[in-house]
Order: sequence, then C-alpha cells, then structure tokens
Amino acid sequence: MSIIRARRGIFIVTAIAAAAGLTAGLLLRTGSTAVFNEEEQIPLVAVMYHSFSKDMSKCGDYVIPPELFENDIKYLIAEGFSFVDTRDITDYCKNDTPLPPKPVMITIDDGHYSVYEYIFPIMKKYKAKAVIAPIAVECDRYSESMELNPSYSNMCWDNIKEMYDSGLADIQNHSYDMHHINSRVRGCAKLRGEATEQYRTRLYADLKKADDAIFNATGARPIAMIYPFGLTSKEAREVIDRLGYTVTVSCTEGASMITREEKSLHMIKRYNRAYGKGSETFFRPITETDRLSEQ
Ligand SMILES: [Zn+2]
Repeated sequence: MSIIRARRGIFIVTAIAAAAGLTAGLLLRTGSTAVFNEEEQIPLVAVMYHSFSKDMSKCGDYVIPPELFENDIKYLIAEGFSFVDTRDITDYCKNDTPLPPKPVMITIDDGHYSVYEYIFPIMKKYKAKAVIAPIAVECDRYSESMELNPSYSNMCWDNIKEMYDSGLADIQNHSYDMHHINSRVRGCAKLRGEATEQYRTRLYADLKKADDAIFNATGARPIAMIYPFGLTSKEAREVIDRLGYTVTVSCTEGASMITREEKSLHMIKRYNRAYGKGSETFFRPITETDRLSEQ
C-alpha cells in the first residue's frame, strides 16, 4: 500500500521558488510576499470499539472477541500503520508536530471492564495506543462496589489510572451521565423545545463533572469529547470551547482529513468494528489510499 497522504494548497510559485525545491509546509518569503503556502491534509482512519467477550454467543455489533482485537492490532502494525490519539492530532494541527506515517486512531467507548481485563494487556504487548472514553458515572459506581467483572461491569477509576499511567491510554470525555436516549436525555443533544442557555448549562454541568472525575483519577484534563451515540447539537460547540477541548468525535462512518485548521479536529468520523469480518477484510477497504484521498 502506498503512502496515504494527500496535499492541497495555494501555490503562487515563482520560477525562483520552484527552482529552490520547496518542501511541504515551508513558507518562503521574497520581500514581504508569501510565495508558498501549503496546507497538508492527512487522512485519519478512526475505529470504534466498545466491549470484548470470549463468549462468541455474546459477540455482535458492539462486542468482539479479544483475539480479534489482537489480530486487528497485528494487521495494522504489519501494514505500517501508526497508532495516534487525540493529543497527537491536536499537536499536529496546532503545534506543527508531525504525525507518524499512516495514522490510525483506535477508540474504545464506555469503559467496560473487559477493556482492562482483555485489551490493556494487548495494548501493552504491542505498544498500541488507544483513546479510552469511559462513562464517568459508571466508573464512580464500580469504584464504590468494586464488583469488577469482564462480562458485565465497567472499570473503576484505579483501572483507568493504571491504563493512563502506562502512557498508552488517552482518557477522554464520554459524559458523566448523558449516555442515555429517553425523554430527558438524548446523549449530548439539545432536547426539543429546550432553551439554548438551559441546554448549555445542563451540558456543561455534566461534561465538567466527567472532566473533573477524569482529572482526579489521572491528573490530566481531557481534551476531547467523544459524543455518546454521536448525538450532539450545534449549540454544544460553545460548551466544548469553554471546556478547552480541541477534539470532538462522532459515530458517523468514514475517514477524516486532519489539517492545520482547528475545524478538522471536530466531529472526527469513525468506523464501527463489529464482529464478523477478519482483520484484513475489515481494514483493507477503509484504509485504501484511493478511497481515503476522495474523502
Ligand atoms: Zn458510548
């Protein structure tokens, strides 16, 4: 597979500039006139996992066997992909820090205990980074009961801290207690008839509570909002900015293009990793160069 990298830019290239053999991202000035301004777009494949089980009868759209996750990691490494997280893409966009070749972002939502039990050892074995987005109220609940079981429970905060301390887990916000769809909550979306200020107050209170809980557990503030079910509203952006977050993540399928523009870090798309396909069958079509370039 060739390098998945596409470039787009505005070129006002003089004969002299062209002869100078410009490289990507170089801003060359003759007098006060910028003659070269290139923006580099990097295709990012993000994959969404949820829970893991060794009981195949429980596997489906949101549960896969740990062995399949390990195969996915082995496949991506063999194909030359690099694991990146929300901090890496932020550093690329805002601080000019280069991204490694063929970046792929593994995301694991909800904070199930099966992630700590089965997946964390695989992450350590292959030094594979992942974005972990726990439902904070569940971490509180299981830190209290300590009834930790890979078949039904969520992680406690000590599990989250241990994963964070490994340097492999990027712990991000998945709400404190908005992981519901009912008459009072529709994920992080504004309710019908809800006043904007009321919505923002409600959203900020919940997300800040999760933010504080993650900070208390890990010592690091989240920088990304992983929207439960991908549900949000345009009025949420003010709250996201107030929290200082640089990245938002959706559940819409597709690849994203990361550029030097802040907006490229918002509503990052993800492919859901369901049970059923082998690693190559799942990944090859979503990581093909031609298709990525068209996104
Ligand atoms: Zn979720």
